[in-house]
Amino acid sequence: MLVVMRDHASREEIQHVVDLLEEAGAQAHLSGGEVKTIIGVIGDRETVYGLELQGLPGVEEVIRVLKPYKLVSRDFKPEDTVVHVGKHVSVGGGAIAVIAGPCSVESEQQMLEVARSCKAAGATMLRGGAYKPRTSPYAFQGMGVEGLRLLRQAADEVGMPIVTEVLDVRDADTVAEYADVLQVGARNMQNFMMLDELGKMGKPVLLKRGLSATIEEVLSAAEYILKGGNRDVVLCERGIRTFETYTRNTLDLAAVAALKGLTHLPIVVDPSHATGRRELVAVMCRAAIVAGADGVMVEVHPDPEHAKCDGPQSLVPEDFAELMSSLTPLIELQGATLGWE
Ligand code: PEP
Ligand code: MN
Repeated sequence: MLVVMRDHASREEIQHVVDLLEEAGAQAHLSGGEVKTIIGVIGDRETVYGLELQGLPGVEEVIRVLKPYKLVSRDFKPEDTVVHVGKHVSVGGGAIAVIAGPCSVESEQQMLEVARSCKAAGATMLRGGAYKPRTSPYAFQGMGVEGLRLLRQAADEVGMPIVTEVLDVRDADTVAEYADVLQVGARNMQNFMMLDELGKMGKPVLLKRGLSATIEEVLSAAEYILKGGNRDVVLCERGIRTFETYTRNTLDLAAVAALKGLTHLPIVVDPSHATGRRELVAVMCRAAIVAGADGVMVEVHPDPEHAKCDGPQSLVPEDFAELMSSLTPLIELQGATLGWE
């Protein structure tokens, strides 16, 4: 941390800052000339940041040099994290995840049909929401526990692990009984109580980027989960809010490339929610793999016209199979493989 003093700050003002730092166990290194003094601070990050030096007399600016996250950072752990899901699937470190399935679980028939076709096409994990975060309280809210049961049943029939959303921290244990990966939706990315809770659970977490979250905020949210002891976190870029309205959100692929450098955690891309348009999903999946993503998440529905949620962005199984064929050479090009163990 750097404390920049105002021009001509008095000797007493400077000394007061130094005293506070030293009392807190930090070292203060002064540099400067006739006009300006800058104090370089070395010490425990939490203690030093907690000092609130900004408002003190003579202090112009406090500059935080250290990042607000540690455990998720690549400086802390240079090698890629590989997250193992269920018994046979992994993601990260060259293992690519393809997570496919409907926006929401609607019926036994729908889930079985979609699970069979996604598995046959090569998806590694099955998705489906039993608890849905809907903008309107009048929209379909999901089937709840019955949805979890149907999702599990379909996944077991085809031998795939499942990813499903925990919408409320009160449901976390119930969802964990059925799911292999606990999804934190975009709207809950900064639900810190939930992140704390999932940090204590023994299941991998898929953390989706908030609608207007910066890269630093995504990483700080992931830090909560790791700090609780759960190291199995997969990040998900799912588009952010911008002025553009043609697409549902704006897919930030630069964030994927940036995150690969900043963190060791795997990152998957969800072009379904990012674009909201079926015709853009396949091409953005390919772009995601080329940008270095560790996988994609795609909404697939056997009958999108009658889907209870997100039909316009859902692929039919045939289109999903075609997408999978087009991804194979790109995955190879990246020196990666589909994440089956
Ligand atoms: C979802 O994946 O089901 C979902 C609701 O996505 P998001 O939280 O990214 O909007
Ligand atoms: Mn959806």
